[in-house]
Order: sequence, then C-alpha cells, then structure tokens
Amino acid sequence: MKEMLTWQQVIAQQWYLTKFCFKNAPGFMAFHLFESIKLQVSIFFEFTWTTNYILTVAEEGGDFRKILWCMGILMAAIAVSTVTFAIYKHYVFPRGRQTLYQALRMEIYEKAKEIDLSCYDDKDFYENFILATEETDRCLDRFLVFENSMIARSVGIVCTTVYCAYINPMALLVMVVVLPLELFCAAQENKKTVAARMERLAHEQKREYGNRVFYLSDYAGELRLYPQMKDRCRNDYAEENRKIEAVNKKYGKQLFAYSLLREGVLVRVAKEGAIWTLILYQMLVLRVLTGAQLVTSRSCVWRASSNIRLVINSFRTVAENSAYIYRIRDFLQMEPTITSQKGEEVPEGSGSLAVEHVDFGYLSGQQVLRDVTLAVKPGQKIALVGYNGSGKTTLVKLLLRLYDPDAGRICYHGKDIKDYQVMAYRRSIGSVFQDFKIYAATLKENVLMDVEDGSREENYRVEEALYDAHFTLEDNRLSYQIKTPLTTEFEKDGVNLSGGEAQKVAIARTLYRKQNMIIMDEPSSALDPLAEYRLNQELNEIAKDKTVIFISHRLSTVRDADCIYMMEKGRIVETGTHEELLGRNGKYAAMWKIQAGLYADAFG
Ligand code: ADP
Repeated sequence: MKEMLTWQQVIAQQWYLTKFCFKNAPGFMAFHLFESIKLQVSIFFEFTWTTNYILTVAEEGGDFRKILWCMGILMAAIAVSTVTFAIYKHYVFPRGRQTLYQALRMEIYEKAKEIDLSCYDDKDFYENFILATEETDRCLDRFLVFENSMIARSVGIVCTTVYCAYINPMALLVMVVVLPLELFCAAQENKKTVAARMERLAHEQKREYGNRVFYLSDYAGELRLYPQMKDRCRNDYAEENRKIEAVNKKYGKQLFAYSLLREGVLVRVAKEGAIWTLILYQMLVLRVLTGAQLVTSRSCVWRASSNIRLVINSFRTVAENSAYIYRIRDFLQMEPTITSQKGEEVPEGSGSLAVEHVDFGYLSGQQVLRDVTLAVKPGQKIALVGYNGSGKTTLVKLLLRLYDPDAGRICYHGKDIKDYQVMAYRRSIGSVFQDFKIYAATLKENVLMDVEDGSREENYRVEEALYDAHFTLEDNRLSYQIKTPLTTEFEKDGVNLSGGEAQKVAIARTLYRKQNMIIMDEPSSALDPLAEYRLNQELNEIAKDKTVIFISHRLSTVRDADCIYMMEKGRIVETGTHEELLGRNGKYAAMWKIQAGLYADAFG
C-alpha cells in the first residue's frame, strides 16, 4: 500500500463503502447513524442547552418548577437514550457488523473464484490482494468507527456553533481566527505521520516475515534441523527493528514540534487565553453578557473546537482506510480474461484433443512453452515426461484452461476450447495435481468437492472411488468412515493423512466424477514404488475407455503409454512409444537408463 489517494479518491471510497453498508444492512446502518448523532445531540442538550436554561432561569429569579420540569424531561430522555444504546450495543451492532463482514467477504470470494490464475503470478496484484483481503474486517470496523463519528461530530459542531452564534457571535471569532493555524499544524503532522508510516512499512513487512517463520508450524521441523536459519531470522528481525527505530527517531522531533504547537500553544495559550479575555471583558467591562451566556459561550467554543480537532485527527485514519478500500474495489472490479467466446456446451463422450503450435509464458518475454504440438485420440493413454522445469505442468494448466496460450490453439472434440463454457469445460476433465490440497472437511467432502446430497447412492460412489484409488477405509483411525473429519485444525478427533494417503484421496476425486478425460500430474509421486506400480495397474484398468494424460518423473510408470512425449525447455523433443524411444537411443533412452538401475531391484 505504497501510494496515498487524492482527496477526491478518498471521498469516492467513503461513498462506495457507505452505499455498500446501507445496501447490505440498511436497518443496522440507520440505527448506527442514529446512535452516533444522538450522542452528540444529547451532549449538546445535556451540557450546553440545559446549563444555559437553568442558569438563565436562576438569574431571572429562579422559578423552581420550570427547573424541575426541565430536569424531569432531561432525565426521561437520558433513560430512553440509555435503553436504545444498550439495545444497539448488545444486539444491533454485533449482528450488523457480522452481516457487513460477510457481505464484503462473499463479494471477494465470488470474485476470487472467477479471476484469472495469471493474476496470482503478478507480484503487485498478489501483494495488494492479500493486504486488502486481510484488512477487510478491519476496514469495515474503521469505517464504522471513524466515518460515522465524523458525521456525528459534524452534527455536534453545527449544534454548538449555531447556538454560540445565537448567544454570543463574538466568541466564534476566536475559533475562526485560530482554526486555519490549527488546520495547518494538523495537516503537517498528518503528512509526517503518513510519511513515517510508509517508510516503516517495508521494514515492518520484513520483520513480520521473520516473526512468521518463528510461529508457523510449517517451519518448526526444519528449523530444528537447521537452527542457524533461526539465528539468521532473529538477526534480520533485530535489524529491521533497528531500522524502524531509526525512522521513528527521524520523524519524532518534527512530530513533537507540531503537536506541541497545536495542542499546547494554540489550544492552551491562544484559544483559551483569547476566549477567556473576550468573555470576561464582555461580561465585566461592557456588561453585555450574563453569567449564563458566559458559561454557555465558553462551553460552545470548547465543544465545537474539540469536535473540529477530532474530525481533523480522523482525516488521516480515513485516508489510510480509503487506500485499503481502493485496493478491495480494484480487485472487485477486475474482469476475468479467460471467458467463453461462444458459450458452447461440451459434447458428451470421449473426444480427440489437439494442441497446435502453442507458445506460452507466465511473464512477458519469458517463454515457457515453445511451438508445442500434440494430438490425442479418444481413449489414448499419453505420457508427458521430462526433467523438472521442462514445462509439463504448464502444458496441463493450458489444457485445463487455467491459462490461455499466447499463440496457437487447443482443440477438444474438434473445436477450440475457448468456444466452450469455461466451467463446463473444466468440469469435463478430471485432474490430479502435484500440489492438490486436503481441506478441513470430512473424507467424503474431500472426495466430493461439492455440496452433499446425503443419499446412499452418493456414499456408495464415494466409497467406490476411494476403493478404486486404493484408499484403505478399514483404517482404525477412520472412526466415522467416510464421515471422518480430515486434519486436526478444527476437530480433536480429525485425522491427518500421510502424503501417500492424501494423494489417493486426490485420485479418488477424479475417479468419483467419471469424466472422459483424466489428466494426472505426478499422481503417485508420494507412494512407494510397489504401491505406485499396483495403483497404476489398477488405474489403467479403471480408465480403460478414458483418455488419460499422465505426467511422471518415473519412466517405469509410463512405459505402457500409447504415446510418450519427451519435453525439454518447453519443447517436445521426442515422440513415440517406449520401445520406439529406446530404439532411438536419444534423450528418453538416456533418462531411462539412469532410472532403470534404481527400479531394477523392485520390478526385476
Ligand atoms: P515441470 O512441470 O516440467 O516441472 P513447469 O511447467 O512446472 O515444469 O515449469 C516450467 C517453467 O515455468 C519453469 O521454469 C518454472 O519456473 C516456470 N513457472 C512455473 N510456474 C510459474 C509461474 N506461476 N510463474 C512464473 N513462472 C512459472
């Protein structure tokens, strides 16, 4: 969040959030605004208007009944106000706030679902997105506190200045004279505080990284084995702290000077001195002011100027908050570029797949795939092999339309995949990725990856998919069978699966859907060689009629493929069956020879 917004942008962000809140929780917002305004109006009546009224009555001879009536009305108003505030605080506010949190998060989640994956490769987008979404709740909190308080305080300023203009307009002059100076100092102070904050931000982010390394369990095991890394992080943390301290020191003196000038000199000396001199002179020398008017005009000036000060102080927070809102809106306004050109349905049954002269790079100028061409007939088993970084996973991502090629095209059932409805096309292909995730949900939900209908048929199909993926449901830990919660994040009796078990769940996801084409990116890399061999035999049987595209490092698992494509530096360098490629004695054969020794013992 490097840049600050112009004041027009700040207003636009406030207006956006105001509309958003009123649209999603109108009752709550009306109550919220009412309570904020009520507070200022009641302060005005209780401390300014009533005091003036009682003192005036006292000065005019003191009709006690009038004062009693006034106090009675005041007490009744206070009682009603206390009740409405309690309702607001304990019922309305907690619920309304949750409603708004949820409404904004839902919009963000919906957008995140459709946004191009390529956005996540853009470092700036990703940083801003993370920052903004992490701030969503706090953003709303700050809005509710400051923005509404600004409105309420403005009402307070209007009440007191109008009343002061009525009682003693001269007293307002003091405020008007001192105000520009006060505004100038506050603006300078705000500017310096923001500048200091911006300078600290990069160091704070680095310090936070060091902090994360200490508390996240992901790092705990490794840091015990490599404790020196811990020392390095600790030193980095201390270093960043020193830099933050230096920034604080750099700005400290200037901030101290401005706040002393504003708080001390202007308020205490200039304003207080001037107002007392004026009203005492009006009362004692000119004799144009009564005692009641003296007290009231002093109170009005004090209240109005303290409200003005609070509004000015809020500007900084409001401006900062607007910068976060701006990021959130920026994200919500993004449109996906991976869309359907013709919105066509994907035809039923197995279809041919053709990749034609495809070029692709994640970042401009960095080509990852070069002139890739391959053809897959329905029901064929295709293997993509090659060393790390040769572009196999990237090609799979293009096949699933997670990215679009920079040049060339991909056709399924004879049509460019861009013609099909995006989600329908993706759903028509089963895929298992290396970096699949297990969710904090039941085993069944982890296979289903959808809302359950709870039918017996559904349970049966989930069990069948797990069985086909060689997942053992007889495990003692699975106390609730497919209803067993996975991960221990929320459930004490949840089960943490091993890498191999988790991989079988990921495979079951694909088998459950019974799609006609399956893409597997290193689906069995976490299994031991024998388990992998057995699973592959089984998968070949299950996927007999399906088209399968298979990526593997272990060439022993791909030798039965109908066609093997060997990739290197983003190009397909060799094509053929296992025997053909061995006979060619090229790169595939060289890779095979290296691995053959490793697997010879296991497979004879
Ligand atoms: P393989 O699956 O063959 O190991 P990948 O397709 O994962 O290879 O990667 C091919 C190249 O693309 C590598 O150089 C990798 O660093 C790069 N790459 C992969 N993902 C991204 C990404 N999201 N952003 C930028 N470069 C990437």
